[in-house]
Amino acid sequence: TIGMLTLDVHGNIAGTCTTSGLSYKMKGRVGDSPIIGSGLFIDNEIGGATATGMGEEVMKTVGSFLIVELMRQGKSPQEACEEAVHRIVSKNENYKNFQIAYIAMNKAGETGSYCIHKGFTYMKYENGKNENIPSPSYIK
Ligand code: ASP
Repeated sequence: TIGMLTLDVHGNIAGTCTTSGLSYKMKGRVGDSPIIGSGLFIDNEIGGATATGMGEEVMKTVGSFLIVELMRQGKSPQEACEEAVHRIVSKNENYKNFQIAYIAMNKAGETGSYCIHKGFTYMKYENGKNENIPSPSYIK
């Protein structure tokens, strides 16, 4: 998945995600990316979140919506991403066998990211500069 979150000069948040789905997927499988709230969710009052990885697990927890709702309750983007990954890990003892990564951004332009397995990074473009940020992970 490629997920993008943007904040314009007027403070408006937008986002998008694309996917080719999982390798060896069953014919007709629909992943999380096209399902609003799972692979992507934006609320222009709060912020946005997007996911990559095992879509079935993201869908079961409506992960991107969950992250935006956690930010609404006062969590930072980082804290919200961590809680959404912990939700998946706590519900699936098989979590070592798949990857999930989230990124999130709030209306202040603060970002966060968290994944199950280390190795996920995201790009942040701000004030004319690109920064490649390694995501903290549940499994170190
Ligand atoms: N999240 C996608 C899916 O499950 C896979 C990916 O592109 O990360 O379809």
